[in-house]
Amino acid sequence: RVVVVGSANVDLVVAVPRHPAGGETILGGDLRRSPGGKGANQAVGAARAGGAETTFVGAVGRDESAELLFASLQRSGVRTDLVWRVDVPTGTALITVSPDGENAIVVAPGANSHLEVQQPQERRIAAADVVLAQLEVPVEVVLAAAAARRPGALLVLNAAPSRSLPDALWAAVDVLVVNEHEAADLSGPSGRAAGGGPEALAAGLLERVPAVVVTLGGAGSLVARRGQPAVRVPAFSVRAVDTTGAGDTYCGVLAAGLAQGRSLPDAARLAAAAGALAVTRRGAQEAVPAVAEVARLAAS
Ligand code: ADP
Repeated sequence: RVVVVGSANVDLVVAVPRHPAGGETILGGDLRRSPGGKGANQAVGAARAGGAETTFVGAVGRDESAELLFASLQRSGVRTDLVWRVDVPTGTALITVSPDGENAIVVAPGANSHLEVQQPQERRIAAADVVLAQLEVPVEVVLAAAAARRPGALLVLNAAPSRSLPDALWAAVDVLVVNEHEAADLSGPSGRAAGGGPEALAAGLLERVPAVVVTLGGAGSLVARRGQPAVRVPAFSVRAVDTTGAGDTYCGVLAAGLAQGRSLPDAARLAAAAGALAVTRRGAQEAVPAVAEVARLAAS
């Protein structure tokens, strides 16, 4: 069982010829509204692509965006009975995409800032094998979720978007998942100055957490555990259409794999297959593949 604690956003996406500068107005393509937010994306990843029984703990408003998110989560088999409804607009990401595929994003957190972990959420978390969290919700919420775990249950933290972590959170993390930028940010000036590749960054982070996964986009990922040699997990070769949601799909499937008793490298291989399939499709939650597709690619 997986509980994902995190954000739910609606992504408002417009294709633009280039990103506007300050004070500038640019005409873009048609508006696309799609369900997103790292927490909700990862919950969809764990349930649909990972095949795990998954609960999403998040907060949404009382608006159309909330309905879009509930529909997407439920279609993917995510349990939404512990999602909070608050009197604040659902989180919204304003995204422009330039022709080279680069995204510029502004997030209005809205309801996400009002997420709380109370008794019903604590009870569900206490029954989970893996708790998966990110940093698009208040860090106190992540700490409360960590505290509600049963002994032996894992906290997988995707430290995105980048921010510094309080000591209590460092101490609670079992598996840290970061991309190279986030790894460098968390490593601080000394880590960045060392100028090392992902192996060096991961080695530094292992001083604070027992296991680190560094995702490297089309170059795959790196699994590092204390006292064991680091393992490179190659990416599956696919035609990339839209990389949105690849990292979230990866995290969801990684958590699902761990909940199913797989080793971290085995879970990372499945996650890599799911992440690769996600980049072949547009959108975040819409791009998440089904378990059978993931298994087929992973076996290839
Ligand atoms: P983030 O979006 O958080 O920066 P990444 O871009 O590193 O995350 O993607 C997460 C994982 O998804 C990668 O480790 C890889 O396994 C897979 N992935 C991402 N981009 C590609 C790609 N172009 N081709 C194949 N796999 C990819």
